[in-house]
Amino acid sequence: MSLENKEAAASTPSDFIRDIVAAHVAENKYPCIHTRFPPEPNGYLHIGHAKSICLNFGIAREFGGVCNLRMDDTNPAKEDIEYVESIQADVNWLISAWADDKLGLKPKNGTPEILAADGKRDFYRPAVTKADREKSGGTFEPFYASDYFDQIYEYAEELIEKGKAFVCDLTPDQTDEYRRNGLESPFRNRSVEENLDWFQRMKAGEFADGVRTLRAKIDASAPNIWLRDPLLYRIKHVEHHQTGKKWCIYPMYDFAHCLSDYIEGITHSICTLEFEVHRPLYDWILESLELPRPLPHQYEFARLALGYTIMSKRKLMQLVDENLVTGWDDPRLPTISGIRRRGVTPEALRNFAYNIGITKYNGVTDVSVLEYAIREDLNKRSLRRLAVLRPIKVVITNFPEGKTEELDAINNPEDENAGKRKIPFSRELYIERDDFAEVPPPKFFRLKPGGEVRLKYAYIIKCEEVVKDAAGNITELRCTADLDSKSGGATSARKVKGTIHWVSAAHAVDAEVRLYDRLFTVAEPDADGDFKKHLNPHSLEVITAKCEPSLKDASTEQRYQFERLAYFTLDFDFKPDKLVFNRTITLKDTWAKEAQKGA
Ligand code: ATP
Ligand code: MG
Repeated sequence: MSLENKEAAASTPSDFIRDIVAAHVAENKYPCIHTRFPPEPNGYLHIGHAKSICLNFGIAREFGGVCNLRMDDTNPAKEDIEYVESIQADVNWLISAWADDKLGLKPKNGTPEILAADGKRDFYRPAVTKADREKSGGTFEPFYASDYFDQIYEYAEELIEKGKAFVCDLTPDQTDEYRRNGLESPFRNRSVEENLDWFQRMKAGEFADGVRTLRAKIDASAPNIWLRDPLLYRIKHVEHHQTGKKWCIYPMYDFAHCLSDYIEGITHSICTLEFEVHRPLYDWILESLELPRPLPHQYEFARLALGYTIMSKRKLMQLVDENLVTGWDDPRLPTISGIRRRGVTPEALRNFAYNIGITKYNGVTDVSVLEYAIREDLNKRSLRRLAVLRPIKVVITNFPEGKTEELDAINNPEDENAGKRKIPFSRELYIERDDFAEVPPPKFFRLKPGGEVRLKYAYIIKCEEVVKDAAGNITELRCTADLDSKSGGATSARKVKGTIHWVSAAHAVDAEVRLYDRLFTVAEPDADGDFKKHLNPHSLEVITAKCEPSLKDASTEQRYQFERLAYFTLDFDFKPDKLVFNRTITLKDTWAKEAQKGA
């Protein structure tokens, strides 16, 4: 094995689901491994979905398969085209240049290609992938469960004909009560003809919402409540974002999901643990319809829960709707679009989501695992820049007025090819307020009265005088520079304990800087059911920073490290005359320090 392959093999996770898939590949169980990622378009995707995307696309990648993106759109009242579009954008961003060639899509507005191999089974040909798309040049779109509403309806009639489904006239509340108590519906024993008639009239729009449902006829008192004659269809007079006014009855998730998997030829239907109890129903539906093999099979894994955040779309929507954040893409949210806007790269998010491990045990992943992945990635790719977030002015009294010197600065010590740039040095500079202490604590190696410090890439300076205004605030530090101490100078090797960053006052450009921190103050904000109580009041601070002039050309594609401070990215709110940076993450884990202090 070449080194490269060894690394690739070592970085490919292994877990119980991959073991199962590998065994199926070894025994040639399926013509092609086919997974899917099935979000409901009722909100934006979050980092938990990223775990599922990386698992499903990762498997397609590792086993030469395909992964469909399918909108699980059976609940039109809660869905919206905005979510459909954001989901597509987020998935594309996360898998770009990694698994986008595995993405299964269907031809836009085209008739799906139907395979009727056995004259009975209809499914899309193993989905069209990027390679096919490039060949055919057409346009493609995700799959939708609503693509199959006609087929799913036919399957429902088939269940009725087999005596395995009935139309029930209990109200929703009565149905719940009967199911809780394991009681049979009084409508359970209607004849096939009667059921077909009622069901067709439900479809035709004769009844109001909630008046009738179609239910599976399994076992009203089954130990597993999901098998107690569960609902298959309900009446909802709601327009659908894909099918418009065509339908006023919609299939339930459990009915639509297994059939959508079947129709698309999915082999491994992977979902989170809460669906484990639904699996018998998933299998019952496919078995009862006596569909030709192979049937898809459902596998469950533990969902991602991450410390210091919440992960349910419903709760995220509350934060958005109540303006507690600026939108679904607020950089403080664990949404994929928020994480992207914050400056995290798809590689970093994948490194996290792909490698956290797939298990059957629910637990909370420490947010420091995510933060580590982000820092590791940004350290490699970020351009180093000098910027001062909370400036204090420094005047170098022995440096000539009006003179500008161009000094060499290294763009990225982690990347030889990143080269160097020039930064201007002049008589008036800004340094960080924190880097000066009039009354220094012990071991303070930065600037203090009478003390020396090195300015990064420049001279050693000494603080000679502290200038204050009438109120006693420091307005200026007057310093002298050892003019032989810059790189290549006679005293360049002279050691001083501290090195600090700076920018030339005359050349600095202003930037709005958004300092983001964790959105919640506690590791499990929802533990007591009142997550809004734990919002971090300091999760966003907006300041104006002084930046070295090269940052005028900053781009949203680039990542930056403001030296000694943090990683930053240009926010898309920037304008040609106004820089706006988001702090992606601090250089070090400041929360770990806090935790230690507290201990
Ligand atoms: P939420 O419960 O967070 O609102 P959801 O389960 O309703 O999310 P779906 O759109 O139904 O969201 O999810 C699409 C897929 O993503 C499903 O297969 C689901 O199992 C998976 N998924 C959702 N949340 C997580 C998570 N936290 N970790 C891993 N996978 C997840
Ligand atoms: Mg769900």
